Amino acid sequence: MRRDLRIDGARLWTSLMAMAAVGATPGGGVRRLALSDEDRKARDLLVAWLQEAGCHVRVDDLGNIYGRRAGTEADAAPVVVGSHLDTVPTGGRFDGALGVIGGLEVVRALADAGAATRRPVEVVCWTNEEGVRFAPAMLASGVVCGRFTLEEAYAARDADGRAFGEELRRIGYLGQAVHRLREAAAYVELHIEQGPVLERAGAQIGVVEGIEGISWNRVEVAGRTAHAGPTPLEDRQDALVAAARIVLGVRALAERIPGVRATVGHLDVSPNAVNVIPGRVLLTTDLRAREAEALGRAAAGLQAVCAEAARGGVEVRAAEFWRSPPTPFAPGVIGAIARAAEERGCATRRLWAGAGHDAKHMADRWPAGMIFVPSAGGVSHNEREWTSPEDCARGAEVLLGTVWRLAGEA
Ligand SMILES: [Zn+2]
Repeated sequence: MRRDLRIDGARLWTSLMAMAAVGATPGGGVRRLALSDEDRKARDLLVAWLQEAGCHVRVDDLGNIYGRRAGTEADAAPVVVGSHLDTVPTGGRFDGALGVIGGLEVVRALADAGAATRRPVEVVCWTNEEGVRFAPAMLASGVVCGRFTLEEAYAARDADGRAFGEELRRIGYLGQAVHRLREAAAYVELHIEQGPVLERAGAQIGVVEGIEGISWNRVEVAGRTAHAGPTPLEDRQDALVAAARIVLGVRALAERIPGVRATVGHLDVSPNAVNVIPGRVLLTTDLRAREAEALGRAAAGLQAVCAEAARGGVEVRAAEFWRSPPTPFAPGVIGAIARAAEERGCATRRLWAGAGHDAKHMADRWPAGMIFVPSAGGVSHNEREWTSPEDCARGAEVLLGTVWRLAGEA
C-alpha cells in the first residue's frame, strides 16, 4: 500500500452530507424514492462529481450510472464499487449513499495520488435498490445480472400506476443497453451494517461473508365469522386465535433452529370488528438463515406450525411466494477486504448480511464482497440512522485498500 494513497475523510463527509440534503426530511433523514425528482437531483450531483474526478460516465437502459476510471490495461475487467442512492420513504443519510460516495472517494483518492491501477475502477449507482416504489427490490442490478428481464423491470408500476420505464425516461436517465456492466473482476460494496452486531462487539469493520437466504410465505387462516356474544366457545372457528398460535409458533422456530430468524410482519384480520369473531386472517412470514439447510428446516417447521394451528374447524394454508437462497461471497474478495482492514489496524468482525443488497445479484455472476461499518444503535431505514464521520472514513479507507489490491498496482 502506498503511503500517499489515502482517502480524505472530511471530503467524504462533506459529499455525504451534500447528498443527504437532496430529499432531506424535517426529521433529519432522507426521502429519495427511486426515479423521483429527488432521485434525479441526486443522480445529477453524482454524475458531476464523477466527471470532476476524471471518470468517464455512462448510463445504461436501467438508469444505472457507471463512472469509469481507466486502468493501464484498457481491456482488463474492471473492479466495480458502489451501491444505491434511492431510499425508503423516511430513510437515513447513509444507507446506500455511503457505498456510492465511498466509491467516488476511492477514485478521487487515486486521482489525488496519481496512482494508476492495472484494471479500470468503476463506481456504480444501481437504480431502485429499495424496492419501495417499484417492486421487487434490487431490480436494476437484478436485470444486469440476469435475474430479471428488462421487460419485467419496465413494466413494474408504483402505487399511482406509473411505470418504471416511463419514469426512467421522465427523469432523463434512460440510457443504452450497450452501457450495461458486461464484466467485472470483482464487486465491492461498502454499506452500513443496519444492525447492532459491530457496535456491540466494539468492531470497526465488518467483513461480510455472505447474504442470508430468505423465504417469504403467505398464510391464509380460514375460520367462520360469528357473533361475539351468543356463540359458545366450542362452536367458534376463530381465525385470529389460530393466527395467534402461528405467530408464537413462528417465533419458536427461531428459538429452536440455530441461525434462523423468523418474523410475522403483516396481519390482516377480517372483518376486524369489535363484536365479530374473526372469520379470516392473512399473515406473512419472513424466514432467514445463512445456510440453505437451516432455511429448509425453518420452512418445514412453518408447515408443521400451520398444521398444528389448524384445529376446531379452522383451515390453514401456507404458500411460499418468494425465496432467495443464501449467497456466500467470494473468498478472494473477502480475503482482500480482511487484509486491507488489517493493514489499517481496524478491529474487524466477520458476519453475514441479514438484508438484501445489490451485491447479492452481483455475487451470482462475479466475485463479490461487502464491507460493513457500524450503525449507531443498529438503527436503519429510519431518519435517525447514524454512522460517525470516523467510521465512514474508515470504511472508505478499507474500500480503497481493497480496490488497490484487486485492481492491481500498475
Ligand atoms: Zn442499502
